[in-house]
Amino acid sequence: MTGTPPANARDRMDDTITAIATPAGEGGISVARISGAKALDIAGKIFRPASGKSVAETSPMRVRFGEIIDPANGECVDEALLVWFKAPKSYTGEHIVEISVHGGAHVSARILQLILSQGARLAKPGEFTRRAFTNGRLDLAQAEAVADIICAASDKALQSALGQLKGRLSEKINSLYGRLLGILAQLEAAIDFPEEGLSFPEREKTVEAVAEIDKDLLTLIDSFKQGKIFREGAKTALVGKPNVGKSSLLNALLGEDRAIVTEYPGTTRDVLEERLKVRDIHINILDTAGLRSHPETIEKEGIKRTKAAIAQADIVLVIFDGSRPLDDNDTLLIAAVAEKSCLVVVNKNDLPAKLDLEPLKKNFPDSAPIHISATTLIGMEALLDAIHARALDGTHSGEGLVITRERHRNLLVQARASLERMQESLANNLSEDIAAIDIQSAMDSIGEITGKNFADDLLDRVFAEFCIGK
Ligand code: GDP
Repeated sequence: MTGTPPANARDRMDDTITAIATPAGEGGISVARISGAKALDIAGKIFRPASGKSVAETSPMRVRFGEIIDPANGECVDEALLVWFKAPKSYTGEHIVEISVHGGAHVSARILQLILSQGARLAKPGEFTRRAFTNGRLDLAQAEAVADIICAASDKALQSALGQLKGRLSEKINSLYGRLLGILAQLEAAIDFPEEGLSFPEREKTVEAVAEIDKDLLTLIDSFKQGKIFREGAKTALVGKPNVGKSSLLNALLGEDRAIVTEYPGTTRDVLEERLKVRDIHINILDTAGLRSHPETIEKEGIKRTKAAIAQADIVLVIFDGSRPLDDNDTLLIAAVAEKSCLVVVNKNDLPAKLDLEPLKKNFPDSAPIHISATTLIGMEALLDAIHARALDGTHSGEGLVITRERHRNLLVQARASLERMQESLANNLSEDIAAIDIQSAMDSIGEITGKNFADDLLDRVFAEFCIGK
């Protein structure tokens, strides 16, 4: 389906939805959210204000204290606070009532049950935000930013998500869309008056304008490398032969004893994945079993996983034992990581040095060996600095706009392909109709980022990743 405003015909908006918006389990408070035309009526049936006035007399945005009452028997379930957000000035654009009760699992379940018994329906994941989108409170990129703020694991992740929620990406996308629309209008005028057509200078100008747009698209696409690391973290593999100190290093990085450290080679058989904050970004550490030249059967799985981890890693920490000479296992490892972005780590710096560094410098000219001790923690800060620098290496610096989602990147790539086709048809003197089709398809791709237009299942996919209550 295509069209503005972005109301999805399949979205049922006439019912009132509810969910507990706070995480499950015990906590300070628990917030039940109700959105829809009947929100205030439903709240009125289960909430008794302490003031003696009715809920219907509540002013918007004012907090009211009272009790939750079970209408079936008049029993008081908990003390509570109620806030009413009057449509359209609410998150969803509909009437919203939020009721805060004490944060117990049972009390939360009771209040949710009471709200449902009065005619609300349980919200699906992300349904509040989906209604906000459908009611034009947020565009699709901003809705995605809401999910990203909730999942943000570092300052960079949070800053980029917040910028997107405030509309920085949408502004850029809308401006690109507007520029394409201008070109389309020009082409359509030429189509409507075929005897005139686009003059040669007009064609030249159009080609230039499209090239400018293409440059902006490319800058955005290029920013994905950085944005992906902001949002998802850099995948970092810890690899090295058995007993080199991988588990010890993982523990040292995480500051706790998560991986089992043993004196026997090759016992870490599973890939552990741990999230670690490094300055203002985060990384996901893939810890693996060591690589060996002659694996016993039981080691095979671990070795397979090491190879898989190397393949998916953005950064590989190649760990060597500084207290031993290089051996065949190290050589095998060096070959296995040849194509990757590597940081050379020489561990066991607290023991007498027996490792010849020359082969490492030769094989890894881009990474000066970082000397550490996973047991005494010597060199850990330098290692963290190196990981941080490498994670942001090759990405454009400064506070420029970054895209953080594969969905956006793919749509921008599609838009570029359409523009390329368009440029070709103009260069080959094909008619304006053909160029117009390509411009339109570039606009469709770009418009899908903000949800100006969308395929039928797009909203389902976007909102499926949200939690219930958001
Ligand atoms: P993995 O097989 O690579 O995971 O290695 P482990 O982390 O299990 O470490 C193997 C052995 O080396 C253990 O006895 C660790 O205590 C020891 N070890 C690890 N790092 C260091 C270090 O920096 N200095 C010293 N002296 N021993 C270490």
